[in-house]
Amino acid sequence: AKDEGRNQFRFHMAELDRQLRERMMLAADLHLAIERQEFELYYQPQVELESGRIVGLEALIRWNHPTRGLLLPTVFIPIAETTGSILPIGKWAIEQACRQIRLWRDQGVVPPLVAVNISAAQFKGESDLDRIVANSLARFGVAPCALELELTESVLMETTQKHKGSLERLRQLGVRLAIDDFGTGYSSMSYLRRFPFDRIKIDKSFIDDVATQNESIKIVRAIVTLAEGLGMSTIAEGVESADQVDKLRELGCDQIQGFFFSNPRPAGEIAGLLAQKLEG
Ligand code: C2E
Ligand code: CA
Ligand code: CA
Ligand code: CA
Repeated sequence: AKDEGRNQFRFHMAELDRQLRERMMLAADLHLAIERQEFELYYQPQVELESGRIVGLEALIRWNHPTRGLLLPTVFIPIAETTGSILPIGKWAIEQACRQIRLWRDQGVVPPLVAVNISAAQFKGESDLDRIVANSLARFGVAPCALELELTESVLMETTQKHKGSLERLRQLGVRLAIDDFGTGYSSMSYLRRFPFDRIKIDKSFIDDVATQNESIKIVRAIVTLAEGLGMSTIAEGVESADQVDKLRELGCDQIQGFFFSNPRPAGEIAGLLAQKLEG
């Protein structure tokens, strides 16, 4: 039995060692991935329930790794946040979103607004986010109202006076702000009072059982009422079924995003999608 325990321990250490090596290798690769042009933005449509029309696209980063294939952000963004690579990656994402809006325009495609994710480490570590955004918009001739930044509650929780200034300058610029994963952090209400958001993204965890569970229904209804009172719109994240769509419509939620309408797609597939409408 003692041997068995020792073997398990060895196995455990070997596994930890493997994971650490893996992280270190990815961290080193991340460093070079921008100049090697290995990142790509996928876009997931956001649909207005009343009209059935696509009113926005969330940009979601992907890494075309030379040996590991397509990597999702949940694998590499946390590593990028600890190594500092998140700053150049985040800047790249903003630039790429603006470049893409320009490309669509030039092709005669009028894209709705594009939303870019800003992680907490990026927001904290970046001293001039508003300048980066302003420069990217100007460089590609994109109207500020075509761009939205998605911030999570964890970003706002750690927001200092300096960062509040940055948010205010972004607002003055005319860029839209959304609060992501709403309801998962604590004291969400105080952020709503302190920061002017255009849109509240209701976290998937409430949407998962909104068609079946009474508590989730009540929470979503409360969030929608709150948003209405504050003049913000609501979007439900991770919508996968027609039952959820029906319930969300009944609850007065403005928009939906999720696999039910479309998963995130490469930019090249978006023009075709924009012509589609949600049925019902
Ligand atoms: P998020 O901002 O909450 O993005 C929503 C995630 O849910 C995306 O995962 C999306 O593909 C997924 N999703 C959308 N609809 C459904 C659905 O109906 N069902 C299910 N099960 N999932 C759905 P993804 O693309 O893997 O991104 C994960 C997270 O990585 C994002 O969560 C965001 O926090 C972060 N992320 C993505 N792109 C960027 C980026 O450019 N910069 C930063 N800083 N973070 C990013
Ligand atoms: Ca998001
Ligand atoms: Ca989210
Ligand atoms: Ca989420």
